[in-house]
Amino acid sequence: MTAITVLAGGVGGARFVRGLRQHLEQLDGIGAGGPSSITVVANTGDDLWLAGLRVCPDLDSLMYTLAGANDEVRGWGRVGESERVSAELTAYGVGWPWFTLGDLDLATHIARTSMLRDGLTLSEATERLTARWDLGVTLVPATDDEVETHVEVGDPVRELHFEEWWVRHRAALPARRFVQRGIETAAASPRALEAIAAADVVLVAPSNPVVSIGTILELPGMRAALSATGAPVIGVSPIIAGAAVRGMADACLAAIGVETSAAAVASHYGARSTGGLIDGWLVDDADAASLPALEAAGIRTAAVPLWMTDVAATAKIARDALALAT
Ligand code: GDP
Ligand code: CA
Repeated sequence: MTAITVLAGGVGGARFVRGLRQHLEQLDGIGAGGPSSITVVANTGDDLWLAGLRVCPDLDSLMYTLAGANDEVRGWGRVGESERVSAELTAYGVGWPWFTLGDLDLATHIARTSMLRDGLTLSEATERLTARWDLGVTLVPATDDEVETHVEVGDPVRELHFEEWWVRHRAALPARRFVQRGIETAAASPRALEAIAAADVVLVAPSNPVVSIGTILELPGMRAALSATGAPVIGVSPIIAGAAVRGMADACLAAIGVETSAAAVASHYGARSTGGLIDGWLVDDADAASLPALEAAGIRTAAVPLWMTDVAATAKIARDALALAT
């Protein structure tokens, strides 16, 4: 039994986990009784209350993508979606008109909110929601508490919810700082901590290093669990040749003073041998020149193609990440 725990954000994380699942299916079969298992610790910093409903964008991207129910063309949300309810909400002036919630997607948020109102934790609600689909992986939120990423912009300074900065303003307002509202009284979820402690390998998906992985890492208890686990921690670079592939991660990295490069993100995470996060770091072929410096910093590395163009290509990335763990 190989237990693999993955830290992941939404779309990038979901693509990676889909490839990892395919790799393990080819290798040994997966699921109940199978020799391998995958637990995904999902970012919840993008979560928000909207139109009275608890919306968890990254958990839902993971659930829809792994269920095969996602809209591949648009890149987010459900396939075959309609927007009748959203138009009604806009007519009532409820919600954000630029943050469309599809009808099928709304059912997820209604179901989740109903479960939370019944007293379930987000972990329990996620278990109930995902039971409907054949995901072949276990999804757990990084925290059961409401910790929401806000972005400080402008002069005079004002604070926006991350989704407003990202979706409405397309990350175009320079971010001064990211703030995790509610973190003082929060804790990493017990299920996430257990999955990290029990893992044979921990993988850090090629997700946004600041607002997906960074948000997970800042949760009280998370870094301690990652440094205590006996499992090697291997990351896959979300940056290829100095560019944030599909996304605006560069705007987030700039705000925390980290250069947009595979090597800079690796040193931002830091070598585990010197108190950081990672034992290994997989980079793209285009970044092969950074290998000697990373090795010298105590990080095992390899350079391979890192574009997650399709599931087969992503399965190879997952295989190569696991190879760094042994
Ligand atoms: P989000 O929560 O939906 O923003 O998704 P994630 O945080 O999980 O992932 C977004 C990040 O994935 C982007 O900022 C990119 O840096 C990275 N990414 C997207 N596509 C690829 C790819 O094909 N290869 C690699 N290596 N990284 C990618
Ligand atoms: Ca996200």
